[in-house]
Amino acid sequence: MSFLEVRNLTVAYGAIQAVRGVTFSVERGQIVSLIGSNGAGKTTTLRTISGLLRPVTGEILLDGKPIHRLPAHEILGLGVSHSPEGRRLFARMTVEENLRLGAYSRHDEAGIVADLDRIYDMFPVLGQRRRNKAGLFSGGEQQMLAIGRALMSQPKLLMLDEPSMGLSPIMTQQIFTTVQELREEGTTVLLVEQNALSALALSDHGYVIDLGRTTLSGTGRELLADPRVQEAYLGEG
Ligand code: ATP
Repeated sequence: MSFLEVRNLTVAYGAIQAVRGVTFSVERGQIVSLIGSNGAGKTTTLRTISGLLRPVTGEILLDGKPIHRLPAHEILGLGVSHSPEGRRLFARMTVEENLRLGAYSRHDEAGIVADLDRIYDMFPVLGQRRRNKAGLFSGGEQQMLAIGRALMSQPKLLMLDEPSMGLSPIMTQQIFTTVQELREEGTTVLLVEQNALSALALSDHGYVIDLGRTTLSGTGRELLADPRVQEAYLGEG
């Protein structure tokens, strides 16, 4: 039994069928990527795993237990944390206030302070600017803060939606290096990326989602070498 199993998921916004049969699994301790073009249904899939949307059909199992009917706060309580597309930070709150929001369901102040220190070690710029308002930050800094906030709930499964969006190549590399470090510390990561090349290069496993369906899967290396993936998602085929 995989850590996360998504089986035959379909999700709709009213009459619009956004996800039409997505199936994939994530093993504990892996980085798994979902790649695919705009509108393929990747964000909708993550929002459904988080409990923000309900599937029309299909199942989502975490550690073998169905979670697709649970409210979002219970799913968070089971260790699933989501850094959403567009980051959704609170611009008028400071770095530290934003990070503490990620820990709102925790009551272990000593543990929270230890995790704040860990995030400031991981992203020193956040530590230097812990009292500054998040709205003044660059895209890369906001992305670090969004990942840091998602980590404050001590997730077993960290879901990152487009962490490289709007970032320079250097910042993107830094974010991806952090993702690999998190895996080494034992966090399981489910990554949604437009930047298929970088995502697959660091992923243990990847899935291609096209028009709401999983169409291809393989190890990151296999997908990178697949002519269909090269043609569709890696620029020059
Ligand atoms: P992107 O990278 O552009 O976010 P995606 O693969 O994450 O793409 P989704 O955002 O999940 O794709 O969108 C899947 C489909 O659902 C698209 O056709 C999109 O237009 C539609 N959709 C997304 N959000 C909504 C919404 N709130 N209401 C109606 N339709 C939506």
